[in-house]
Amino acid sequence: MIPASVEQQFPDDLKATLVSLRRAIHHEPELAFKETKTADRLADALQRVGVREIDRVGETGLVARVRGKGRSPAVVALRGDIDALPIQEATGLAFASAVPGVMHACGHDVHATWAVGAAALLATQPAAGDVLIVLQPAEETGKGALSIIEGGALDGVQAIFGGHVDRRFDVGQIVADEGPLAASADVFEIELLGRGAHAARPHESRDPIPALAAVITALQTIVSRRLNPATPGVVTVGCISAGTAANIIPDRARLVGTVRAVEPVSRGMMLDEVKRVAETVASGFGVEARVTLDHGPPPIVNPAGATAWAREAASDLVGETNLVPLGFLNLAGEDFAHYMERIPGCFLRIGAREPGGPTIPAHAPTFYPAEESIFVGAAVLAECARVASRALAASA
Ligand SMILES: [Zn+2]
Ligand SMILES: [Zn+2]
Repeated sequence: MIPASVEQQFPDDLKATLVSLRRAIHHEPELAFKETKTADRLADALQRVGVREIDRVGETGLVARVRGKGRSPAVVALRGDIDALPIQEATGLAFASAVPGVMHACGHDVHATWAVGAAALLATQPAAGDVLIVLQPAEETGKGALSIIEGGALDGVQAIFGGHVDRRFDVGQIVADEGPLAASADVFEIELLGRGAHAARPHESRDPIPALAAVITALQTIVSRRLNPATPGVVTVGCISAGTAANIIPDRARLVGTVRAVEPVSRGMMLDEVKRVAETVASGFGVEARVTLDHGPPPIVNPAGATAWAREAASDLVGETNLVPLGFLNLAGEDFAHYMERIPGCFLRIGAREPGGPTIPAHAPTFYPAEESIFVGAAVLAECARVASRALAASA
């Protein structure tokens, strides 16, 4: 199931180390910025594969340096994220989560492991210049990449690569498309402030509940009436709350949602519209809307140059026919975008479905990536680093 060109790069002891590392991380998942045991395990594993220059970055991140073979000053970074999600696992795996309500439901256990695998491959067969292995906390909250960047650990890095497991594709298939790959993921909170009263005397109230209903309905027109239909975008209200009892008109109501876009213009327009629509609709009901926007990661748009390096690496490894197109764009967010605002790079999708297996979406309690995806991810990221490093060294 592992392509032969990938399999031959991994001696049995390295294979066993990576499989047991992944299973241990999966068995004891840790949430964003709480990945202390995970970080300790990763530091141990890096040392075991011969990588000794390891810095702790922020609370729970690691950045390790794998030396290049030459004196090329170009530094390339490879990133694996390491955090889990607040979900009760239902995979039935032998090494399923032992922590109630916490689970690696996005495959970051595999991403962390393939980053260690890439370090091992680069220690044996180095790139032209140094490669930084970034083990990043807190991807799920959209804050982890910034914690690595703000520490200065990536200053001077000239290219960065990362990837995500994806069960829409078989193990051995890789997506390395130029253009949009993930959406911006911003959060809005709308608080509606009215006046409470007895449920039987609505005329004495400023009832926030009809205002809440009208605001939700009006928000649906941002995508249907304001957004250019040729452009992807989403406005979702994911959480509402108001009131305590049938005979009470509450004094406030609250809703929380997310805006997704792949173009800066539509992102800005939709966020402005959320605020404008909420305020004007609420005011029609005599209720005040207070809108708070929390900016998450921007979209990921893979640029031509770094994508060409990734495509060369992937097709050398798994062959042109296994370099497959993404197909329909997924508007999930990915905080790798924060790196790509500053450093050219490419974000890949790595096939993680065993042949004939089901397509299971990430963030489902039954999600698991096929174990073999560890080796494809490690090998392709290591090769991306070698190709980019060689090109950067040649142009220096
Ligand atoms: Zn996720
Ligand atoms: Zn993820």
